[in-house]
Order: sequence, then structure tokens, then C-alpha cells
Amino acid sequence: MSQDVQSILVIYTGGTIGMTRDRETGGLVPLDFDQVTKHVPELDHAGIEVEAVSFDTPIDSSDVAPKHWRTLAQTIMQCHDRFDGFVVLHGTDTMAYSASALSFMLRGLQKPVIFTGSQLPIGVPRTDGRENLLSALMLAAHQTDGRATVREVAVYFGNQLFRGNRTHKESAQSLQAVVSPNHPPLVEAGVDFVVNEPALWVPDPELLRPEATLDFRQEVAWVSLYPGMPLDLLRQTLEWHDLRGVVLATYGSGNAPTAPLLKDLLREANDRGVAMVNVTQCGHGGVHPELYATSHMLAGCGVIPGHDMTTEAALTKLMHVLAQTDDLSDIRDRMTSNLRGELTPYTPTRAEAHGPAGAAGLKAL
Ligand code: ASP
Repeated sequence: MSQDVQSILVIYTGGTIGMTRDRETGGLVPLDFDQVTKHVPELDHAGIEVEAVSFDTPIDSSDVAPKHWRTLAQTIMQCHDRFDGFVVLHGTDTMAYSASALSFMLRGLQKPVIFTGSQLPIGVPRTDGRENLLSALMLAAHQTDGRATVREVAVYFGNQLFRGNRTHKESAQSLQAVVSPNHPPLVEAGVDFVVNEPALWVPDPELLRPEATLDFRQEVAWVSLYPGMPLDLLRQTLEWHDLRGVVLATYGSGNAPTAPLLKDLLREANDRGVAMVNVTQCGHGGVHPELYATSHMLAGCGVIPGHDMTTEAALTKLMHVLAQTDDLSDIRDRMTSNLRGELTPYTPTRAEAHGPAGAAGLKAL
């Protein structure tokens, strides 16, 4: 192999990209990776050395669980020195969760790990799978000044490369199904790849080799508030005896109802050592814990601001952090720290910083 040829490992997990229609049921079922590559003859001329490994049984990504994230992380660690980059073929439904999880598991990555998939199976005429696979491979092989351009877990979809832990599947229909609401694309793939240098993650220079943390605590809940929500429902969740953490999806910039019972339930959960993280239900932006009186209540109950993390990032990060520590203040420190580029820390505006009631006395009407 010439010095310039990059070698990429494709890890095939399943997903629509490698599915075909079952003749009997009419439903989509996963294919072997060999059958997938048959549909992409361009792979032979891409100037990249491609090897592939596959899950024993390719899965629809609805079946993804932490054990699959562990398999992915272990495969990447074991093959790390032999390859210049990694492409993970994955169903789109839970790709944002898996990419987020992998980003937290793999610290100090110096090589790209690029997730991709497609909305249409690779064998159908209008498939988006061919372009997604080829561009993901080329981006995994992309070098700048003699080293990998992308040194983080990313998602390639619909002509854009995103930071993995900033992604969200927004559309069940569009071929541009993935968005990154709070972080710009790392690369725009038009006629050329246009790299957005300032948006790229710079790994910890002290780590020459990545380190993997494989554990997750799965005793977490995700509760999205809605008007009229019976608080008994929340009580039942918060009082589940194994519960270790909750991602609370609140309104707007992090607001919740003022009902005294809600306050009591959250306070009691905090006293029992349950870590609660506040994220917004909105598609863009994050929680601003100081802005409204209704969000002060949450802070007073020990709820941790999730800043502008996606729900996928907040959940997987919480599962990852809870596996490292039981201590609530340690959990708070880690959840509010920017571990892998997953959040933009919230800085209060001048008015918020100076006003006695936070945002210069802004109150809920
Ligand atoms: N159900 C599929 C999956 O996530 C959808 C897709 O791949 O787009 O595995």
C-alpha cells in the first residue's frame, strides 16, 4: 500500500442502508455487508483501502443498546493502530444516541470515527446510501497537514459532516434527516469538501492514544413536561427505587410549572441522590437557568442545567457519568463541563448577572 493511501475500517451494524425488502412480509430486513458493497462499485476507485467488519447479526438501530456501543468502542480500540479512520454504518433512528455515546466513551481520539447511514436502502435507484458511504469514507481518509482532519466522533449525512454528540434525527422523510441545532457543520460537502476549521474538536494533546470508558448506568429516565401532566406520573418515575438520573425536558429556556408539588418531588429526588439534568424541548438553543423565575425553582431543587445539549447527548452523557461517580456534586461538575464539544456553557448576559432576581427581574406572567 502506498504511503498516501489511507486505510479505513468500516464497521457495519445494520440500518436501512443495508436493508432489502423481505419478499414474504414486505418489511425491510438487514443484508450482509458484502451485499451492501456490491451496490457501490465506486469503492474500488476511491483510492482508499477499505476493510470491513460486521455485527454478527446486523440490526435495525431501534434495537441498539449500551452493549452495542461497547462492541463499537472495543473494535475501534483494538483496531486503532492499524487504520487511519473508522466509518460506522448505522441506522438513522438512533444514530445520534450512538454517536453521542461513542464520543463520551472515547477520550483523546486522534482519528475520525464517522457514523453514516441512509434513508433509502443502498440497492434502490434513488438511494442516498451510496453518496453517504463514499463521502464518509473520503472524510475518514481526509488529512490536513499530514494528520487526520477530523479527530472526533462525527456523523455524515445529507452532504454535511456534524459533530456526533450535537446531532438529532429531525426528519423521517427528508434525505437531509440529521441536524445539528447548536453547532455548525464541521464540513460542507459540495463540489469540494469545505472544512470549517474552528468548528472541529481539538483532542487533548496530552493523550497520545485514546482511552475508552465502557460502562453506562442504564437506570435513567427521560421525562418531558407538558401542560396538564399528572404529577403522580412524575412521582412514580422519580420514586423508582433503582433510579439514578433523569433528563428533564422543560419548556423554552428551561422553565417548569410553579406547582408546589413539583418542587417537592424534585427536591425529594435530589435528596435521594437522583441526578436531574434540565434540557430544553425546543429544537434550537438551550436552558438559561437564570432567566425566568420558573427556572429558578428547578435550580433550587438541585436540577443541573444541561445548557444546549441535545436530549441524546444529555442522556448518554448522564449514563456515562453515572457509571463513573455517585457523588452529586461530581456529577454536576461533569454534566456542566464540556467533555467532547457537546455543550456551549451558558454565560449570563450583563442584565442577568446584575439583576437580583437573575434576569433583571424577568418574571413568569
Ligand atoms: N429503522 C432504521 C434504523 O434505524 C432506519 C434507518 O436506518 O434509517 O435502523
